[in-house]
Amino acid sequence: MEPTIFDLILRKEIPADIVYEDEHVLGFKDVNPQAPVHVLFIPKVRIATHNDLDESNMDYIKHIHAAINHYAKEIGEADNGYRIVMNCNENGQQSVFHIHMHFLAGRQLEWPPG
Ligand code: 5GP
Repeated sequence: MEPTIFDLILRKEIPADIVYEDEHVLGFKDVNPQAPVHVLFIPKVRIATHNDLDESNMDYIKHIHAAINHYAKEIGEADNGYRIVMNCNENGQQSVFHIHMHFLAGRQLEWPPG
């Protein structure tokens, strides 16, 4: 598989504003933020889409949620609330094929989304 832009960020070959890192997960600011806080949480292994999750890699989802809970508390947005989103394939408007959870916070978000 060709490396994605997120593989390059993981390998620190291109810069990103990294706000969270642990053994399994990296979190960095989205380059085109849709809210005052817009961070992408990615697994440190390449999983192309949500469809590629299975028993062998599903724990990464647990690690991503744990990372988000930690980060939301750390920046003081846990009680205010936030949204987490994962887009899949064409109809979901996924553009980078290394799964990532969008974490959006810092303002009242619209629902339903546009
Ligand atoms: P998707 O559309 O796949 O759900 O989301 C991909 C996200 O990655 C988009 O919100 C886009 O702004 C962000 N993105 C794309 N390229 C880069 C990059 O090079 N650096 C960062 N920090 N974010 C990126």
